[in-house]
Amino acid sequence: MDGLIQAALAGHGHGLHKHLWKEALQESSLRYGQKVVSIDKDAKVLTLENGHQYQYDALVSTTPLDLTLTWLGKEEWAKGLQHSSSHIIGIGIRGECPHGTKCWLYFPESNCPFYRCTVFSNYAKLNCPADDAKLPTLCLGDGSAPASSDPKEGPYWSLMFEVSESSYKPVNQEPVTLGGTAGTWSDVVRDTLIGAINTQLMKPGDEVVSLYHRRIEHGYPTPSLGRDEVLEKALPWLQQFGIWSRGRFGSYKYEVANQDHSLMLGVECVDNILYGTKELTLAYPDIVNAKKNSELLYLRNMQLHAAPDLPNVRQEPGPFCHRALLTFERKKVPYTLDYIDFANKPSWLQDVSGGKVPVIKEDGQPYMPDSDVIVVHLEEKYPEPSMKSSVPPEIGAKLFPAFRGVLMGPPEELADKQALLISELKAMNDYLEAHQAEGPLFGGHQINATDAAVAPKLYHAVVALKHFKGWELPPEFAAVRRYMAAIQQLPEWKKTDYGEAMIIKGWERHMAHH
Ligand SMILES: Cc1cc2nc3c(=O)[nH]c(=O)nc-3n(C[C@H](O)[C@H](O)[C@H](O)COP(=O)(O)OP(=O)(O)OC[C@H]3O[C@@H](n4cnc5c(N)ncnc54)[C@H](O)[C@@H]3O)c2cc1C
Repeated sequence: MDGLIQAALAGHGHGLHKHLWKEALQESSLRYGQKVVSIDKDAKVLTLENGHQYQYDALVSTTPLDLTLTWLGKEEWAKGLQHSSSHIIGIGIRGECPHGTKCWLYFPESNCPFYRCTVFSNYAKLNCPADDAKLPTLCLGDGSAPASSDPKEGPYWSLMFEVSESSYKPVNQEPVTLGGTAGTWSDVVRDTLIGAINTQLMKPGDEVVSLYHRRIEHGYPTPSLGRDEVLEKALPWLQQFGIWSRGRFGSYKYEVANQDHSLMLGVECVDNILYGTKELTLAYPDIVNAKKNSELLYLRNMQLHAAPDLPNVRQEPGPFCHRALLTFERKKVPYTLDYIDFANKPSWLQDVSGGKVPVIKEDGQPYMPDSDVIVVHLEEKYPEPSMKSSVPPEIGAKLFPAFRGVLMGPPEELADKQALLISELKAMNDYLEAHQAEGPLFGGHQINATDAAVAPKLYHAVVALKHFKGWELPPEFAAVRRYMAAIQQLPEWKKTDYGEAMIIKGWERHMAHH
């Protein structure tokens, strides 16, 4: 996965990270270079090195968990977490890069201190100075003095090395003075220069124009014995005090500590704080690492083919598509919506559903037709929030045929259909009235499966019958009136409402055809 991310970034040139974060965060709410020195878990206050204090409701902390636990008096737990440190060494060299398009290489050999080298200049041109920039030569590849350190033009290329350090693998860090004007560096820098020559990454006589070294105390979280025991105690304990310790070292799980994992740890943590959703990456590393993600909430490839709102089409935006849409929205399942032009129905639609909508398509899966099937599928795949309904299934079941009969059925059936419509509305009204204390909807205050099925049909009935027949919902059905008004206030409805004009236009065409 590391390689994938690096490769993706390699193609984007410079500034991608900065741009991403600038887009995502408001500058005014950021504080750079300010160290947190303590947390008062009971008062929910954190203190910075400069003395400023911040009150929080929920704190997402990427500070290494061992440090947080030590601050909070849990040194014993902190001792159960182990990590290694990393040295990052950079070398800038004059000349043409001899390594083609290679991006990064691993080194199990014992003739070099590093385990990995990145050909940094291959990632973006701007990782190096311009070819015509004149730089002095600091030293040669083997660390010796160059014949001249006068500034000269490039071109330039560069290498970045990673060296691990732990109590089991000490790293030479005595100061050493290199030749020329390179100055004094930690011994690991000289060892890296020599290792780079041993592994043929660089030649002894190459002209080094830039050197860089940085030691990162928390480099890799070690998946040690006893770690899980600490995490199982420590993370819920912190959460009790409103502290979500997450990230590479925040939650200390090596197996979910790459950049992609860390990002998802953050996303899921915020969702957990806001909505109580499960943090899959943290809880199930095996699942998120094992295979292509096709069951997580953050699925982007769901496509819903719905009835059209295109001009010159013969079909009204149907209540069955509306039902599927409400379900997607309620469950916050991302989807893309494709309208079908019913005047030019694609042949695949005929094959998969006999030409009916809605139809959904998930990556790698066959088309799934039929709103009944779709909503059951969504409920199984995305159980949270549950839309399961305990309302008897017969409630509202005949509403649509009754309404159609009243609107455009044969005159001899009109009285029967009118009676059916009234009895359907009465059953709905009785149920809603009896459960008024739980909220105005079948699902209480939130849309459940019955609401998703019934409300779009009721919407059609109320709008079309009023327009074409001058019919109003009888006042004795006050609970149904309240119902319609309440559901139209919900964000799921607002997002999926296609408007009364579309309903009227659709039925106009429909009636003209009969
Ligand atoms: C050598 C190395 C190579 C890597 N290579 C790759 C790779 O190729 N691909 C990949 O996907 N991932 C890679 N990673 C991992 C990647 O860097 C991490 O997954 C990611 O940065 C973790 O994000 P994070 O937000 O959890 O933690 P970090 O990015 O570590 O952020 C934590 C932040 O908390 C700050 N902080 C800590 N203590 C305090 C305090 N007291 N007060 C204020 N701020 C504090 C730190 O300064 C830091 O900015 C690599 C990591 C290392 C060390």
